[in-house]
Amino acid sequence: MTELYDPLHSLREGDWFKLICGASFQHLPAVRSLTLAYTLAGADCIDVAADPAVISAAKDALQVASTMGNEAKQRGFGFCGRPWLMVSLNDGEDPHFRKAEFDSDLCPGDCPRPCEKICPAQAITFQNGSEAYSGVLDQRCYGCGRCLPVCPHQLITTRSYVSAPFAIAPLILSNGVDAIEIHTKVGNLPDFKRLWNAIAPWCAQLKLLAISCPDGKDLIDYLKEIYQLIQP
Ligand code: SF4
Ligand code: SF4
Repeated sequence: MTELYDPLHSLREGDWFKLICGASFQHLPAVRSLTLAYTLAGADCIDVAADPAVISAAKDALQVASTMGNEAKQRGFGFCGRPWLMVSLNDGEDPHFRKAEFDSDLCPGDCPRPCEKICPAQAITFQNGSEAYSGVLDQRCYGCGRCLPVCPHQLITTRSYVSAPFAIAPLILSNGVDAIEIHTKVGNLPDFKRLWNAIAPWCAQLKLLAISCPDGKDLIDYLKEIYQLIQP
């Protein structure tokens, strides 16, 4: 039954079914569609990039899937419940993100400002007065891209920026993800430690912590060091 569904059971039984969107895959419509399709097909886990916009797109799809689950089962799909939402973090690479931007001086005075209405983060503001700011509030924008296509004058663009993994971890984990996978490699202990220090306060909310490390010389010693660091 859906309410008793536990993805951990699949992991224990060895039939874990996971969608790996990829740590650098940030095509939001595709993330939405893939998450919806794989959830209805019975995936246990949806693994997405550590990007707030990507996480939001996946969560949107999970919400839609929850309304279609019963019908999907009647049609013979494998849907068994809400899969875990997993985020992949790489301890040695800086993730790339997006922010929207536009020059409000170019906005026609009679524009009904659909950009402001559609933004789910209230990140677009229009203020009056010589000192007032109009445009995108950088701290609030998480790069979901919803505002771009609604501007009738195509004034809104995005710019990329890079953030350190340990700096982005709290932002990611405060978004309600169920699981994380840390990608590391032998010799990366200082980077792993920095990332772990940022993640540790959020561990109680996680259902699963996975660590992925390629095989090679000194692997066992490295994994022991990691274990010493993260053991409860
Ligand atoms: S991309 Fe646009 S709609 Fe999305 S959060 Fe940023 S300003 Fe808002
Ligand atoms: S929709 Fe475009 S033109 Fe209209 S207020 Fe927003 S950015 Fe300006």
